[in-house]
Amino acid sequence: MQFLPRLSKEIGVEVWTKRDDLGSVGLAGNKVRKLETELAHAQALGATHIVTEGSRHSNAARAAAAAAAAIGMKCTLVLCHEEPKKPVGNLFLDALFGADLRLVGDVSWVELAQLTEEVVHELEADGERVHRLPIGSATGRGAASFAQAYIEADEQIRAQGARFNTIVHASSAGSTHAGLTLGRAISQTSTRIVGIIVAGEVYDDVPGTYLRLANEAADLIAPSIDIEPSDLEMTEEYLGEGYGKPATGVAEAIDLMTRLEGIVVDPVYTAKAVAAIIDMARKKTIQGPVLFWHTGGYHSIFDPTYTTSIWSSLPRLRNIVLHT
Ligand SMILES: *Cc1c(COP(=O)(O)O)cnc(C)c1O
Repeated sequence: MQFLPRLSKEIGVEVWTKRDDLGSVGLAGNKVRKLETELAHAQALGATHIVTEGSRHSNAARAAAAAAAAIGMKCTLVLCHEEPKKPVGNLFLDALFGADLRLVGDVSWVELAQLTEEVVHELEADGERVHRLPIGSATGRGAASFAQAYIEADEQIRAQGARFNTIVHASSAGSTHAGLTLGRAISQTSTRIVGIIVAGEVYDDVPGTYLRLANEAADLIAPSIDIEPSDLEMTEEYLGEGYGKPATGVAEAIDLMTRLEGIVVDPVYTAKAVAAIIDMARKKTIQGPVLFWHTGGYHSIFDPTYTTSIWSSLPRLRNIVLHT
């Protein structure tokens, strides 16, 4: 938990960050908390092989590959989106972590789920004991980990003598938002939690799926709690052109976070959440102290698609001089 003094001064709202981008497994990120519970469950079921799906930018897929390597399980990833000419970003890491990669091209999320099901059947027919993780490790169990994360963050910030009014985080498959919302209910606090949607088309019914995840998590760890639709707050206002595509404010968010705080945010996920905080601070529609939940995933910044566009949108980067 870290205070961001220069960003706070710049935008006129007190901002803290929860550093889930730092950790011990496979370059960290929010998926590690979900995998802690999911893979323990998989092992308890006797599974030896993890199968999951996602985009080639997927941090969930990369974290699954890393965590599987860390505990000696096999991992197969079914990945969509245009294939780059060279393995870059998470795709490169997926391969390094030893996952078996199935690249299925630019298919829809629905087709991707069907293709993954086929891969599961194929592996099972070969005698593998498979545990399939849904996209983004979005399960009730994963959300339960995030309810515990909320309680952890609440305790940490109280220990620093502070409170937060608003939590802002990047949101896609939903178990982060579902879990944080449940954690708030368990700890009987009233923090506003805003999910910044970075992949709107991932479900037909985004709020309905988030609600289901929250209540599945509640059934596991707090059965007396019932999460209502009105407990959830998410917005597509900062999605821009879509998942992994440009959005207003992303370059500025990367600029301010790196230059003022020495923290990297990425153009696919976290920069859209920071862009939301900056915009809401300027419009005075957010109340501080704000907690930016840093969900990790900074390595997409090394993907040439993004490096080139960030380079061209930030003139300060062109001040680099070669000393000969
Ligand atoms: C997966 C991911 C999210 C969204 O988390 P969900 O629980 O799937 O909504 C946000 N940020 C990063 C960096 C991620 O990898």
